[in-house]
Amino acid sequence: MRLTPGATLGVLGGGQLGRMLALAAFRLGLRVHVYAEDATEPALQVTARGTVAAFDDNDALDAFAAAVNVVTLEFENVPKATVERLARKVPVRPGAAVLAVTQDRLHEKRLALELGFETAPFVALEGGALPRELVPFPARLKLRRLGYDGKGQVRVADRAALEEAWRSLGGLPAILESEIAFRRELSVLVAGRPQGEVVCFPPAENHHVDGILSETRAPAAIAPETASRATAIAERLADALALEGLLAVELFEAEDGTLLINELAPRPHNSGHWTIEGCLPDQFEQTIRAVCDWPLGRPRAIARCRMVNLLGDAVLDTERWLREPGARLHLYGKEERRPGRKLGHATVVEPLA
Ligand code: ATP
Ligand code: MG
Repeated sequence: MRLTPGATLGVLGGGQLGRMLALAAFRLGLRVHVYAEDATEPALQVTARGTVAAFDDNDALDAFAAAVNVVTLEFENVPKATVERLARKVPVRPGAAVLAVTQDRLHEKRLALELGFETAPFVALEGGALPRELVPFPARLKLRRLGYDGKGQVRVADRAALEEAWRSLGGLPAILESEIAFRRELSVLVAGRPQGEVVCFPPAENHHVDGILSETRAPAAIAPETASRATAIAERLADALALEGLLAVELFEAEDGTLLINELAPRPHNSGHWTIEGCLPDQFEQTIRAVCDWPLGRPRAIARCRMVNLLGDAVLDTERWLREPGARLHLYGKEERRPGRKLGHATVVEPLA
């Protein structure tokens, strides 16, 4: 089903990604209805239509489905039952099959290997007993489900530290993966339209501090050959998933140049914020085009950008960014300031030479 301007886009999740998605949707003449679990969430501040309810509130879900023409999500951990219930009444893009993979790190890694791509060496941990064969240490122990911004994972120096580390994560199903001495971290965003058209954004280079994205530089200053290998991986994943919407693919470029798939996110991504100023179309518009089944844009970088996340108290430093030549400040309207919480970002824009 293809949407016409004036239709209503439903967004599951009320965070900053939903807020920026809504702002892009308004520019394209859409109405937006946000479904969020908490009344203080940032996307609700910019939309006239909103539902505040739990993801398992069936009456609220049915009313939401009746009020919108298509549903997308800004948060991939929406329960499967929620998506399936909505999907009986309205298209949900990306759908349950994509979420089944991207909600579980083990499924993501298995898909990567099935397609002939590489990941860090890993083993799955499940059910109490440790497997005999582990992976080279140091390693990262990561819960299979529900991790973000470095939460739900711990660094493990050696085998002796593993049991305690796993206990600290509640002994839930996890994967243990070797730490990669990467040359750089890259991410590629890819959009897929219901009939199968697939288009990538130029890769971005990311710097994390304590497991949280700190800065993105884009387009990444990498050889064209590396960029085309990265985009080929993203396109193949989008095809394999029959992607309807946007997918972010996080990659490690190993010292020998191999690209390893780290993880996937089926939604706009923090490392794509640079596209708001630096690329036409931006990631939010492209998501909307994909889920409305409109022609996808052919992303073209129009500037070189440095995107800086404003985490916790860094958000108090607004003056610095307001004074910085060529910078644009984005604040998310979050009420509570906590260390490490994403409260805004600034993008410093330099026109392409
Ligand atoms: P986010 O939601 O912010 O993307 P996340 O909590 O889902 O993060 P990961 O992407 O798995 O977690 O890890 C966060 C960061 O930690 C990575 O971007 C990378 O900098 C570092 N990291 C994770 N796994 C490894 C690894 N195997 N080797 C080296 N560094 C790693
Ligand atoms: Mg990540």
